[in-house]
Amino acid sequence: ELPAASNFIRSIIDEDLSQGLNDGRVATRFPPEPNGYLHIGHVKSICLNFGIADDYSGSCNLRFDDTNPDKESPEFVAAIKEDVQWMGFEWKRLCFASDYFEQLYGFAEELISKGKAYVCDLNAGEIRAYRGTLTEPGRDSPYRDRPVEENLDLFRRMRAGEFEDGSRVLRAKIDMASPNINLRDPTLYRIRKGATHHQTGEAWPIYPMYDFTHTLSDALEGITHSLCTLEFEDHRPLYDWFLENIEVPTRPRQYEFGRLNLEYTVLSKRRLTELVSQGIVDGWDDPRMPTIAGIRRRGFPAEALRDFCTRIGVTKSDGMVEMAMLENSVREALDAAAPRAMAVLNPLRVVIDNYPEGKREELVAANHPKDASMGERNLTFTRELYIDRNDFMEQAPNKKYKRLTLGGEVRLRNGYVIRCDEAVRSEAGEITELRCSYDPATLGANPEGRKVKGVIHWVSAEVGVAAEIRLYDRLFNVPIPGADGDWTRDLNPESLVTVQGIVEPFLAQAEPETRFQFEREGYFCVDSRDSTPERPVFNRTITLRDTWEK
Ligand code: ATP
Ligand code: MG
Ligand code: MG
Repeated sequence: ELPAASNFIRSIIDEDLSQGLNDGRVATRFPPEPNGYLHIGHVKSICLNFGIADDYSGSCNLRFDDTNPDKESPEFVAAIKEDVQWMGFEWKRLCFASDYFEQLYGFAEELISKGKAYVCDLNAGEIRAYRGTLTEPGRDSPYRDRPVEENLDLFRRMRAGEFEDGSRVLRAKIDMASPNINLRDPTLYRIRKGATHHQTGEAWPIYPMYDFTHTLSDALEGITHSLCTLEFEDHRPLYDWFLENIEVPTRPRQYEFGRLNLEYTVLSKRRLTELVSQGIVDGWDDPRMPTIAGIRRRGFPAEALRDFCTRIGVTKSDGMVEMAMLENSVREALDAAAPRAMAVLNPLRVVIDNYPEGKREELVAANHPKDASMGERNLTFTRELYIDRNDFMEQAPNKKYKRLTLGGEVRLRNGYVIRCDEAVRSEAGEITELRCSYDPATLGANPEGRKVKGVIHWVSAEVGVAAEIRLYDRLFNVPIPGADGDWTRDLNPESLVTVQGIVEPFLAQAEPETRFQFEREGYFCVDSRDSTPERPVFNRTITLRDTWEK
């Protein structure tokens, strides 16, 4: 893996440390909302926050930002924990913003007591209308000057569950004329009576809003550097306002970095949720999804994701990253780590007429051409084999064609040279079988007096195991789905093609998620959901070369 590249956030931390800030402590957090699965965009934030903690001997908390009980679930909480661990990171503390509901409530009362928050009876539409626009200042709510005692009484009764959803909110009293709309008396608490929260059950009829919760959770956990994406840049004045107006135990600082956007996919949780709920994909962990769960099931190694994040770096602007960059990190990691094996995706039967019936011979194959430490395995050679249909043509279409032809010779990988003597056809004219002969003198040796250039892969028909092979490709056909309208029209109809192949027998016994290079075909892994030794299923992680490059 590459060493972590320096970036502007690390420069800020270096500077803070050189000034002795925070007693030399570096504390970050990764704060997902458990309303969906984590995606490759979150991976960037995970690598940044946990990576900084690792490199500065600091700490990183995993904190669930769980203030919307209606959209969140324990399923998402469990998946997020698993995904962060799979990425190879350890949190210092596992936290829920809901752990702080009592303390946050106390902070809200503190603001009310200081005359810096008030209960507002405007409804949501009125609040929006009073808020003004970018070019127009807002107007004060008629409830803005409620006396402190009345605000405290109403807020306590909100907590006691006396009022209906939407009837009142608690707002900060800041500045309705601020050019920054986030400072125009933002809402701090709303009433949500009927909800059952996955952590706190029915304990709370009111819920704190995101900015308030997030800032104060950072302060309660002693976060030093609160890293978030650029769209929160104009929330920073509010972040600082909370810290200045509430007695907090520590003083975190917020810094913003550019979001990751990736070509040929979508990353917004709303769209990902739609893909799942409309059945366009087969769940959050469908191998075509850009979720960590999907990427993992597809066969991408965590190491490749970390490497990708190092390569894209962290900057102060949102960028669109080419899918090819991610795929290159994946190919590099798999080329080094994946043992080789043979699998025939479009089987065509080959009978070697001059090979004895019933004979079985154990040939030897290296598991990795560049890494002897991966060892060798036996390959069973028999009279009947399968090769790929794409490796045979009756006549070579051109001089460059090096596969098998009628009357031509080819080497079976790790085995003998064979010649095709006859192509047997069905009544419909389809080739169903090749009759061939082998040259016994060609095992590990060149044939006498002639050159055989082509090498093709094969599997014994007698010991090979039938397997379902899922050929995954990019989920969308265009770099920016929806750029010309409806994003669902840009779905790639061939993002999944399933074939019935034949694989070497040892592959059927491989553990779920084990990755291989199927020689000449690409990288594949054992599907973690559907594969069994009796009915193995392999997912294509990625082809050997970029087939999208024009
Ligand atoms: P969405 O807007 O799609 O719902 P989100 O940003 O609200 O996603 P969270 O669960 O709140 O999702 O995100 C947790 C953390 O991950 C946040 O700090 C957020 O900034 C970061 N994050 C989310 N998406 C990206 C992305 N595309 N690139 C970098 N960081 C991201
Ligand atoms: Mg969010
Ligand atoms: Mg969001």
